Amino acid sequence: MPVAVLVPLYLILVLLPLALARLQGLPPRPLADELASGAGLVALAMILAEFFLLGRFRGVTRRAGSDVVMRAHQLLARGALLLAVVHPFLYVSPMTPPPVWDVTSRTALNYGWAGMWPGIAAWLLLGGLVAMAIARDESGARYQHWRLLHGLGAVLVAGFGVLHVLRAGRYSADPLLGRVWIALLTLAVAALLYVYLVAPLIRRCRPWRVASVTRAAARTWTVTLTPEFEGRVGYRAGQFAWLNIGHGVFSLDENPFSISSAPSAGRDMEFIVKELGDFTRTVGQVRPGTRAWIEGPHGHLTHEGHAGAPGIALIAGGVGIAPLLSILRELSATGDARPAALLYGNRTEAQIVAREELQHLADTHGTEVVHVLSEPPAGWTGATGMIDAELLGRHFGGTARRGWLYILCGPPAMLTSVEQALKALGVPSSRILSERFVYD
Ligand SMILES: Cc1cc2nc3c(=O)[nH]c(=O)nc-3n(C[C@H](O)[C@H](O)[C@H](O)COP(=O)(O)OP(=O)(O)OC[C@H]3O[C@@H](n4cnc5c(N)ncnc54)[C@H](O)[C@@H]3O)c2cc1C
Repeated sequence: MPVAVLVPLYLILVLLPLALARLQGLPPRPLADELASGAGLVALAMILAEFFLLGRFRGVTRRAGSDVVMRAHQLLARGALLLAVVHPFLYVSPMTPPPVWDVTSRTALNYGWAGMWPGIAAWLLLGGLVAMAIARDESGARYQHWRLLHGLGAVLVAGFGVLHVLRAGRYSADPLLGRVWIALLTLAVAALLYVYLVAPLIRRCRPWRVASVTRAAARTWTVTLTPEFEGRVGYRAGQFAWLNIGHGVFSLDENPFSISSAPSAGRDMEFIVKELGDFTRTVGQVRPGTRAWIEGPHGHLTHEGHAGAPGIALIAGGVGIAPLLSILRELSATGDARPAALLYGNRTEAQIVAREELQHLADTHGTEVVHVLSEPPAGWTGATGMIDAELLGRHFGGTARRGWLYILCGPPAMLTSVEQALKALGVPSSRILSERFVYD
């Protein structure tokens, strides 16, 4: 499903309740009341739509990129919160039971306690949920605990929200709109159940085993997994997967990592893992033979599907080399004759991953490999500093490389500045693919 379809689909989903409310043709109320109801209807639909932006549905992540989907999830959650916050304060009609003749609640707000309490609960919980998500890194909470709370909280917000709209809503008293809310809530909960219950159940038939864990560079490990099932291990060079090592198939202890092996190289899957926190700091101690589970592949960071690009430019910062290594390996394994260039930035020389292999690719495939160090050792003859506009201009400034495909992976700040610099060099946005190693 192309992105051009995903966006209209989203808009249809969140505007459907509003459109159905409008079509009821109820007698008009003061504009402020209509705005209040509209804000509430759209906010609730947006909350329910968040369940489909979990970054776990391949049809979506393969087109838009997981980081884009998750960013949309975060921003849209804030938008829903904003609408939900203003919703009760916009009403101007009195909060008293409407007179008996006013069957369409035109003159007053029909808010009994039965309809009010779920609304207040959803309203407070939603604020808490968004605040918790924004402050997650500072809170020191374990990611897995946060994720569990986030999921449970989201189900409560959705459930209370729908209860509120069905009991208190003027427009949602309509049987058709009522059924739409129930259907949307059911689909939202089903999406969550699919990701955390059904998909793991299916995954039980596809177990993996850790084949080896070796040191790749300073505080960085290469983890190789072997499938213990017959059948296809399908992924595209540059994609990522959720890795669960040593836990049960339903465990929330799973982390996203880019696949660094080439799909054409065989059925084993390789990952390059940099020590950062709770899990990654212990990855060096994982024993060969440990059971593992893989959920994926996800992501759109791949040269596949871009056969028309005359060349491939890869720009990596730190462990962002992982997906780009997969692409370089695949280009070589498939004998892709297009020219390729890699700009690979690290802080120190000890952090460079797969240095000999990159040299070998340069020698055999003709890949232009440029190492850039911000803290070079004495006697370093390569590039120094950051991957900045000046360096990019030197390597990609010519008109011949403007039509290349640019694939970027690294720290968010680096990606933002590299994207800006490439656009300033005249590279169209459609030729730039990037992925941030941030997922929350
Ligand atoms: C698409 C993608 C691809 C990635 N590829 C690589 C790669 O190839 N190599 C690599 O070293 N790192 C990669 N990362 C980053 C890697 O996922 C995190 O470094 C790792 O999850 C940290 O886990 P931790 O328990 O060691 O750290 P913690 O201290 O628990 O967490 C540090 C931070 O890492 C993130 N994080 C932790 N656990 C999770 C989780 N389960 N899901 C999502 N985010 C989490 C959170 O932002 C958290 O605040 C990738 C991330 C993404 C989103």
